[in-house]
Amino acid sequence: MISQYHIEKYKEYKTPFYHYDIELLEKTLEKVTAKASELGYVVHYALKANVNDTVLRTIQKFGLGADCVSGNEIKKALEHGFESSTIVFAGVGKTDEEIENALLNDIFCFNCESLQEIQVINQFAKKQNKTARIAIRINPNINAKTHHYITTGLEENKFGINMWEMENVLEQIKEAKHIELIGLHFHIGSQITDMKIFRSLCLRINEIQQWFNHRNINIKHINVGGGLGIDYTNPNKNPIPDFDNYFSQFQKFLTLFPNQQLHFELGRAIVAQCGNLISKVLYIKNGINTNFMIIDAGMTELLRPALYQASHKIENITNNSKETERYDVVGPICESSDCFAKALILPKTERGDLIAIRSAGAYGEVMANNYNLRNTIKSFVF
Ligand code: PLP
Repeated sequence: MISQYHIEKYKEYKTPFYHYDIELLEKTLEKVTAKASELGYVVHYALKANVNDTVLRTIQKFGLGADCVSGNEIKKALEHGFESSTIVFAGVGKTDEEIENALLNDIFCFNCESLQEIQVINQFAKKQNKTARIAIRINPNINAKTHHYITTGLEENKFGINMWEMENVLEQIKEAKHIELIGLHFHIGSQITDMKIFRSLCLRINEIQQWFNHRNINIKHINVGGGLGIDYTNPNKNPIPDFDNYFSQFQKFLTLFPNQQLHFELGRAIVAQCGNLISKVLYIKNGINTNFMIIDAGMTELLRPALYQASHKIENITNNSKETERYDVVGPICESSDCFAKALILPKTERGDLIAIRSAGAYGEVMANNYNLRNTIKSFVF
């Protein structure tokens, strides 16, 4: 819920901008950490979702580890107090420089996505006279049934290693003297709200664990990635995802061997609801079948709708006129895909009204860009 206090503050800033509600972030973190620590689970925060300084510091204070997908994210995590021993590093295209730096920093684990990558990590670890800890990212071939751009666990996706390659991969790992295989890693997609999908993942991991067990391979940790979705339709009703139910799926359906630790890499579920994109109405333009509400934020500030037809709740927060109108809410960018919502019923809106695009704390500001030579968007925390 956006409070009157927040609305008054918003009027003081130049639009568009992101606002992060740190109180809500803290409440969310209390929920995640309470259940995770009760069950002995380790949660890494996926930096790719949001790297705002205060957001990162708040997350670090709650004791989460970091999940990084680039050398710069590792650097950022370290700068914000995350211990290197809590950092996992994923990505299909780790560069030589990124691997060398990650090894220099003694990160907890490389989540490896191809055989060649494991061989390269081995070479660099040898050069530094170290042993690199790795987890194999396995493609479990589970359909996350989310948008196809954020479905990542299928055999035809570019991510991870398929089970039919595994014998060969294990042979090569045996040869690689500077590699220690410590984990299995999975990440099947994002914005998953159907718990059955996580249940299927657990059952598939149980089968895969048997496969490794039959070969007497001791795996110290299972990392099930992230993916827990949030309620984009009703952020006021569900400001905090149901972490208890989510973690319970793993407790009930995943069979861990004694001393095996379970890791998570949550991004969206932690930060999405604490962020709002605040924009001002520039013009109302009457079309034939619809009215266009042209606002001063566009796909350059929030790419999700244009990139994966994502939909965010949109509110006029300064005008509560009883009269309503139907609007296509669009940005100023010279692209037809620069559209936030179609045929949305809102209070009759005027130039200068403030518009809140809700649940924009994850994959929002991090994807902002300067296309059309737009200004870099600012963010505020209060
Ligand atoms: N882990 C990996 C490997 C990912 O690719 C992603 C997102 O793309 C995440 C974790 C975080 O996912 P989410 O924000 O859906 O929790």
